[in-house]
Amino acid sequence: MERERLLLALDFGGTKLTAGLAASGERQWRAHRVIPSPPGSNAQSDLEIMMELAGDLLVTAEVPLVKVARSHGGKGESPLLPCSSAPLLLAVGVSFGGPVDWTRGLVLLSHHVPGWENFPLRDWLQDRFGVPAAVDNDANAGALGEHRFGAGQGYDSLMYITVSTGVGGGWILNGQPWRGADGMAGEIGHTVVDPDGPLCLCGKWGCVERLASGPCIAQRAREWLEEQPGRGRILRALAGGDLNAMTARLVAQAAAQGDGLAWEALEVAAWALGVGIGNAANLVNPRCFVLGGGVTKAGQRFWEVVRRTACQTALPGVHFDIVPAALGDDAPLWGAIALAEDQIST
Ligand SMILES: [Zn+2]
Repeated sequence: MERERLLLALDFGGTKLTAGLAASGERQWRAHRVIPSPPGSNAQSDLEIMMELAGDLLVTAEVPLVKVARSHGGKGESPLLPCSSAPLLLAVGVSFGGPVDWTRGLVLLSHHVPGWENFPLRDWLQDRFGVPAAVDNDANAGALGEHRFGAGQGYDSLMYITVSTGVGGGWILNGQPWRGADGMAGEIGHTVVDPDGPLCLCGKWGCVERLASGPCIAQRAREWLEEQPGRGRILRALAGGDLNAMTARLVAQAAAQGDGLAWEALEVAAWALGVGIGNAANLVNPRCFVLGGGVTKAGQRFWEVVRRTACQTALPGVHFDIVPAALGDDAPLWGAIALAEDQIST
């Protein structure tokens, strides 16, 4: 009997750690675990938790484990028992929530967790698992996941955009990830759509992220409620009277229930995103934009403004689809599976 060929995917997110195990060629998880990143965590503690998660998955799948001594864990050696028909781990793919040097498999830093500066995550994992590993940032991994397994299937060129705490993006061009000369391609969140807009964390004014991210939608709504005491009755009620409890989700809920102020706060985000998309379409002319992240669940009206603004911004000859992501929060994790799969097929 042929041994089952398994791939391990790891997602180091800003707030949670996720691991998934899938058989090569299959489109469903064999095993899947997610846990919140504990407060005060650092690179070392996140790595320990992730190794525990991965160990659990491999034990569940009955992959025989032999601890690999670091000094002997060179490329080509397998930590697996060479006997039996037990499943075989072939490769590990990683989605990391922060900038990554793809060619060297190096995490450059994390914006959320200390201790990741210049950490050689690919080599570290190859040492421990004794199989090839690949590490990319979460936006590129999300693009790859949606392209290979989700809403981007069948599109030769696409941009994946995730709109949640931040706004990130990744490109697939000619069927392959396009990471850019510095690995920084896809930073649509820091393209400027309103030079007179508010100051972004990056130091520029009126970036897409500063107008469209979840925390910025919440902040805008809160400021408007403070400035306009006679408006936003539904939103105020949903927030329980505590404006500091404001979230983009509440703004979207209130907008759906007919709150005018909430809708206007959301509309700014949809407009900014639409301009960013239209500009990106003019520059690169991809066939599709795949949008994921919590903010994109804000409802039909939000999507209409994104689509209309993007079309108005793009030149008449530039055609593209704008579609919702199909894999939800799992897009980067499926991208990690694709990264692992590419390690064994190339
Ligand atoms: Zn910015």
